[in-house]
Amino acid sequence: MDKFDVIIVGAGLAGLGAAYTLAGNGLEVLVLERGDNPGAKNMTGGRLYLNPVRNLFPGLFDNAPVERFITHEGISIMAKDRSVTLNYSENELTDEPHQSYSILRSKFDRWLSERVEDKGVAILPKIRVDDVIKDSGQIIGVIAGADELRADVVLACDGVLSLVSEKAGLRSPAAPGSFALGIKEVIALNSGVINERFNLEGDEGAARLFVGEVTRGKFGGGFLYTNKESVSLGIVVGIEDAAEDRLPIEVPALLDAFKERPEIAPLIRGGSTVEYSAHIIPEGGFKAIGNLCGNGILVAGDAAGLAMNIGFTVRGMEFALASGHFAAQAIMKAKEAGNFDAPTLSIYRRLLEDSFVLKDLRNFQETPAVIGNPRVFNHYPELIGAIMRDVYSVPAGPKDRLYPTIKKHLTLPELWALFIDMKGVMKI
Ligand SMILES: Cc1cc2nc3c(=O)[nH]c(=O)nc-3n(C[C@H](O)[C@H](O)[C@H](O)COP(=O)(O)OP(=O)(O)OC[C@H]3O[C@@H](n4cnc5c(N)ncnc54)[C@H](O)[C@@H]3O)c2cc1C
Repeated sequence: MDKFDVIIVGAGLAGLGAAYTLAGNGLEVLVLERGDNPGAKNMTGGRLYLNPVRNLFPGLFDNAPVERFITHEGISIMAKDRSVTLNYSENELTDEPHQSYSILRSKFDRWLSERVEDKGVAILPKIRVDDVIKDSGQIIGVIAGADELRADVVLACDGVLSLVSEKAGLRSPAAPGSFALGIKEVIALNSGVINERFNLEGDEGAARLFVGEVTRGKFGGGFLYTNKESVSLGIVVGIEDAAEDRLPIEVPALLDAFKERPEIAPLIRGGSTVEYSAHIIPEGGFKAIGNLCGNGILVAGDAAGLAMNIGFTVRGMEFALASGHFAAQAIMKAKEAGNFDAPTLSIYRRLLEDSFVLKDLRNFQETPAVIGNPRVFNHYPELIGAIMRDVYSVPAGPKDRLYPTIKKHLTLPELWALFIDMKGVMKI
């Protein structure tokens, strides 16, 4: 074809969400994906929260290849020699429709791409977009190798380091402080073994997060999600800490050490690693969101920085799906108006503002600063661990009363620092 209505760069959840919404509306849509197939290059922790996006894609997820619905939550504060774990489960989490599911992107993205193709959209794998074509300030297409492909609108869904939005002048090269590095192993285990070890029944699943010693007191943490016949186990560390050698050991060695922790080793014993992956994650939240549109171009998903980590929940996938959907709606409106300049396409921002996407990101905009506090990762895990050690210990001699046992850790300077940190927490 000489020209498409829309070229979508990237067949991740943002790109596929957009393509699904655009399909069947009389537009010529082309999706370009650099991987061998959709999902081949994509990674997540991963848990997908479906509640925010079910209504945007009616019926779509009813037969999605999800792994387990999450019913058991846990967060562990890890000190060097001990850890304190908060487990949470509730009956409502077993009720349908389930709030969240563990997923594996290689399966999930492939399935979604097939649904998109069923609706008549062409997805071309193994095509890497290298640049955009500009004409008098308007993006009019993309360059992929020797090919020039033209479109009324280019939708950049090319993930966290979005080359396309950078080439279009919508964002500057990535600032390391707003990104983290995640590495993950998928460890195969029999489903019965998983159920027994995690106290689950049937397709119930567990999600666990870890903070503190797992990243040697630096920003980041560990995660574990149960799949049907495997567990996804990984760690996340700040890019700056990793790049500037502020970690005492290399990141892969951190993951190995995490696997050997007594909290983890028995859970994965006998399992074999069937997948190993690494990926960057946007961590800047609302304040790091780039320009969402320009003349002839929109940006969705990680490419726009639409991801949110608030410590207890890590969310990016439903933001990608939803932003893809709203970008598609904006494109359809622009098509009706016959105009693809930035003011016309900027309805996209309004659609995001009216949805959970920018409402949630705005509500939690102070979170990166609060959870970026180094004391969260180095001081508090040791402090909480030490308090619990003393509370539980029964010495040879007489045991102190509970109040002085705890009070001796909470000195005046400690309480003052805690007060300051709590003032930050109150902003989220
Ligand atoms: C370790 C880790 C744990 C996470 N845990 C969770 C979690 O538990 N829950 C959650 O909701 N989110 C989680 N996230 C975030 C979530 O995975 C992302 O927010 C989500 O994948 C973003 O989707 P996307 O479609 O925007 O980008 P991606 O999924 O990255 O897709 C981008 C696509 O674009 C393609 N592409 C890139 N450049 C080009 C190019 N030049 N030409 C052609 N194609 C290109 C890529 O191959 C890819 O297919 C996690 C992320 C990581 C790394």
